[in-house]
Amino acid sequence: MKGFPLHVKIVLGMLAGVLGGVLVQVAGVDAATIASVNHWIKPIGDIFLRLIFMMVMPLIFCALILGVGELGDLKNLGRIGVRTLLYTIVVSMISVFIGIGMVQLMQPGRDIPDDSRAKLIAQYTDKVESIKKNADAGKEKSFADVIVTMIPKNPMEDMVNAFNPEYKGGGVLAVMFFALMLGIALISLHSPKVDAFKDTIEGLYELIMKVIDMAMHVAPYGVAALLFVLISSTGWGVMLALGKYVVVVIVALAIHQFVTYPLLLWFFGGMNPLHFFRSISEVMLTAFSTSSSNATLPTALKAANENLKLPKQVSHFVLTVGSTANQNGTALFEGVTVLFLAQCFQIDLSMTQQISVVLSCIIAGIGTAGVPGGSLPVVAIILVSVGVPAEAIGIIIGVDRLLDMCRTVLNVTGDLTAAVVISNWEKR
Ligand code: ASP
Repeated sequence: MKGFPLHVKIVLGMLAGVLGGVLVQVAGVDAATIASVNHWIKPIGDIFLRLIFMMVMPLIFCALILGVGELGDLKNLGRIGVRTLLYTIVVSMISVFIGIGMVQLMQPGRDIPDDSRAKLIAQYTDKVESIKKNADAGKEKSFADVIVTMIPKNPMEDMVNAFNPEYKGGGVLAVMFFALMLGIALISLHSPKVDAFKDTIEGLYELIMKVIDMAMHVAPYGVAALLFVLISSTGWGVMLALGKYVVVVIVALAIHQFVTYPLLLWFFGGMNPLHFFRSISEVMLTAFSTSSSNATLPTALKAANENLKLPKQVSHFVLTVGSTANQNGTALFEGVTVLFLAQCFQIDLSMTQQISVVLSCIIAGIGTAGVPGGSLPVVAIILVSVGVPAEAIGIIIGVDRLLDMCRTVLNVTGDLTAAVVISNWEKR
């Protein structure tokens, strides 16, 4: 594999993993043998993911302090912050409408027979229980709690629990708030010691990026392992039963990825979409293989600076905040899934309920953690709010990882599109 660029190596790793997984399925290897093989292969994927996750918290911390610090004054921060928020709301809304339009058109939930529905739910009861527990942790929080816990009492506690789904504090958003405040202080205070602190953070940022660079060399093997485990252990019966739903999600994501984003880039970003997609191929592959916007943040920052040549002060801020708060793919997926599951249970949602689903998905896109499966507890909460039992989520768990990989690509492409558009507005 020596001599190939990294993204080619990652594609080769993907092909190897998919091919291996399909071969195992086609050969009809029994479940026990597959489980014992995967016992050895899974750690390779986990090592790759952990190498990257290890750096995510320190990276968010440094990138946001520097991002805000580089904006130079509070007026710039306010303007970019408001633009990012408005952009996120409007583009998320477009993505949810695309998804919901597709579900109404294709009606994927009407074809699922009652007995396969019950079978699917029964298959994943353990997983559903843990999702419900996480959903309960989220449900207990009022809107006021969400705002209050975004201000960390002890930022270390939020860093430690950032990827703990049962944690009731602010998590990643609270760490961002802490970094934001330090960044604001950095803008407002100038002294030799503060300058030295900024230099130190810059140095730490460079070191983190170097470590990620090294970790990415494991990516082709990690990706091969992750895909092999996923495909070899997926029951293909599930895939067939849910085929129409899977197609609806993927087609809706593709429309947003290949129609909405290019239009935004062209009209508002002043950038040729082909150049854009060529420059971010490694980012999309990383998102696809890790299913995590947070884990893809380092690769996205690198592509923004080196390939897209975006101004650092905009890309640092927009990409770091966006990795948790701008998730168009997640919002779209949540809308499609809630409506699909309501259809499965023959529950017709009123217009008001549908509007509340759209609004919940837009807000959820801002609040969903950028980690694998981050959407599932949120879907459970929205389901209950429109009268569908939370257990219904068991129906889609078997295909969730595949859809997670696809929606994460959309999430990070959306962050980079936002960075291009907002950089262009700033230039003007
Ligand atoms: N995995 C997604 C992300 O990291 C979140 C989700 O939709 O589950 O962007």
